[in-house]
Amino acid sequence: MARIGLRDITKVFPGGAVALDGVDLDIADGELMVLIGPSGCGKSTLLRIIAGLETPTSGEVHLDGMDAGHLSPKERQVAMVFQNFALYPHMRAGENIAFPLRISGMDPAAQGERIAESAGALGVRELLNRWPHQLSGGQRQRVAMGRALVRQPRLFLLDEPLSNLDSGLRAELRAEISGMVRSLGVTTVYVTHDQTEALTLADRIAVLSQGVLQDVGTAGRVYDKPATMFVAAFLGTPRITLLEAFVYVYLNSHIALRIGEQQLYLPWSDPRARELAHYHGEAIVVGVRAEAVAPIAEPRRGQSLRGSIRHLEHHGHESLAFIDIGATEIDVDPDGVRPRAAAAAARRHARASESLFNRFLDKITRT
Ligand code: ATP
Repeated sequence: MARIGLRDITKVFPGGAVALDGVDLDIADGELMVLIGPSGCGKSTLLRIIAGLETPTSGEVHLDGMDAGHLSPKERQVAMVFQNFALYPHMRAGENIAFPLRISGMDPAAQGERIAESAGALGVRELLNRWPHQLSGGQRQRVAMGRALVRQPRLFLLDEPLSNLDSGLRAELRAEISGMVRSLGVTTVYVTHDQTEALTLADRIAVLSQGVLQDVGTAGRVYDKPATMFVAAFLGTPRITLLEAFVYVYLNSHIALRIGEQQLYLPWSDPRARELAHYHGEAIVVGVRAEAVAPIAEPRRGQSLRGSIRHLEHHGHESLAFIDIGATEIDVDPDGVRPRAAAAAARRHARASESLFNRFLDKITRT
């Protein structure tokens, strides 16, 4: 398999569109890296540069520590699957999977073994005699992946491979891709704009915005401790609530966070107090995930925020409450930060025993 190193990759297309701007990223041998970001952020361009289908304007692609700039996709031993990956209509599913082996001149007995292995991993063994038009969309995509993997590539690159499928099938195939890629141990880069796909599939997630790499880390880390406000706002449904807070240090006693007209206290015994102390008199941004908010039966001064429910949204298994706490909410877009009207989202039936106070402060992001 292969280790990928991207060194200061910039891509400017003719006409001046900057698709990638100084991207540095290391992908470990056998790792499943998900590239995520809004439409047009440069995900597909980066994938095509790794594949050797596109040349960077500047920067280097390394494979196993060697500069791969001069290598063709074939020499890089890359297999790619796209959103609309077409099968050869005049070949049965099995012949489609066998095709790359046949043109490589592999002997038929060895071919049979490889096809059985690939088809087994993708659950299409029973479908090998069918024509493409006799397969469902999900089955066709499985066969397409089988055809990509049968050559045992060093790199497996997928560009939104599930986006044409319905949500049930997507969840099913997602689990299968994850199992298959891990059992094969092939280094995989997976492009998506779907957060569920990213958070559930990835060993690590790389978040891009406007060609700039914003954060790289495990799903848990980028969700809980995002490196930038863009990442905080981009990941998570419902969106994180970002609130402006002012820090006040009361020596020998506590730290107070003023949020709108209300205050939250943090005792000195809390290790996070030391970090916050640096921001005395300054504004910071506090990020609150809806699932971290819980109603409190007996509020105590400095330990909770008071608010009124403005609106309830029912989502079947849970409800979302929009709570006005009279604070300034920060809205993030890639171009900067602008304040918006107050509204905080909270899950209505969150566990009342959770300490709202501690959960709030776990999610602090510096402006
Ligand atoms: P999507 O999720 O919509 O597929 P993406 O994140 O994959 O988007 P890219 O396709 O990599 O984004 O495009 C990044 C930027 O580069 C966009 O602004 C796009 O318009 C531009 N771009 C991509 N390919 C070309 C090209 N061949 N010529 C000029 N500009 C291009």
